[in-house]
Amino acid sequence: MEKLPNIFGCTTEELQELLVPYKVPKYRAKQIAEWMYQKGAHDFGAMTNLPKQLRAELSEHFAIHQPVCQDRLDSADGKTSKFLLAFADGTAVESVLMRQPYGNSICVSTQAGCNMGCAFCASTVHGMARDLTKGEMLAQAIYINDMLRAEDGGKVDMMVLMGSGEPLMNYDNVIAFLHLIHEPYVLGMGYRNITLSTSGIVPNIYLLADEGMPISLSVSLHAPNPELRSQLMPINRKYPLADVVAAAQHYAEKTGRRVTYEYILIDHMNDGEEQARELVQLLKGSLCSVNLIPINPVKERNLLRPSKARIDWFEHFLQQHHVNVTVRREMGTDIQAACGQLRNKHWQEKKQDKA
Ligand code: SAH
Repeated sequence: MEKLPNIFGCTTEELQELLVPYKVPKYRAKQIAEWMYQKGAHDFGAMTNLPKQLRAELSEHFAIHQPVCQDRLDSADGKTSKFLLAFADGTAVESVLMRQPYGNSICVSTQAGCNMGCAFCASTVHGMARDLTKGEMLAQAIYINDMLRAEDGGKVDMMVLMGSGEPLMNYDNVIAFLHLIHEPYVLGMGYRNITLSTSGIVPNIYLLADEGMPISLSVSLHAPNPELRSQLMPINRKYPLADVVAAAQHYAEKTGRRVTYEYILIDHMNDGEEQARELVQLLKGSLCSVNLIPINPVKERNLLRPSKARIDWFEHFLQQHHVNVTVRREMGTDIQAACGQLRNKHWQEKKQDKA
């Protein structure tokens, strides 16, 4: 079968370009975009304000690819849902919906798998399959948005790029995706409702600061000194801790947005008094806050969650030393919401099928 070009993920400008041979007015591009992104159309046939003839013609020349949901897990309290979404080539990624008191937040993947090699993370266990396109990132948001609309007229309000992958290693696609989801003909999502999380790709943090896009930046720190950080996050050997913090500080100053440092707490690894002191020393006086994340134990790794007493102690130490600190409210640990876990489960099953 002839493979038709996919238009899901196109901007209206790109659609206009594609429509040139059909000699239709420019506003048709916007109509098509609204059907795909706001009204849940999966084919041209559904686009009832387009002339019938045009619908038929477009169906012959273009496809609208949307992912298929291969698996879904819902937390016992019904607030967190996790989806394994497969694209046309069979590549699958995880996306999460968190129904928060202040709105619906989604967690989107930017790569299928990841090659950062962090010791605590499930996403990296099988390496990286490939970068996602802007359309594939958008498809995750639209899948969940369509579902919420069908449920009760709800919508996606906020987004974090904290799924699988390192967003700043797929820089151009990620930036194009953020522009796209911000468009009124897509979700009109405010940049202030978007958070990008990075393991610290220093040159691209500087690029991001110049995009004129006031999104929030989260930096995965996880260790307060270079030795321990290199052990947990190999990328630290390329972009050392001090440079990461300097880049994040530059981002905060340039955008006026406070940077959040994520710090996974791992029992007797990075949660002791020495590390707490080093962390305070490192961040003292900068426009930032620290988000402590008690580790989600990952089957493939042997890293444990500290006791509640140790978590509380670490939090209080930072407070006493005037570092803004929060402990991540846990959502969805019962459904393996830590990135990569669901994908890995399917990976194992696929391997067993083949064996
Ligand atoms: N590559 C980017 C974005 C993906 S990971 C980055 O490194 O920031 C985003 C976050 O997932 C990490 O900062 C960490 O907070 C979280 N994470 C990964 N593995 C985890 C685990 N085992 N337990 C708890 N959080 C984890």
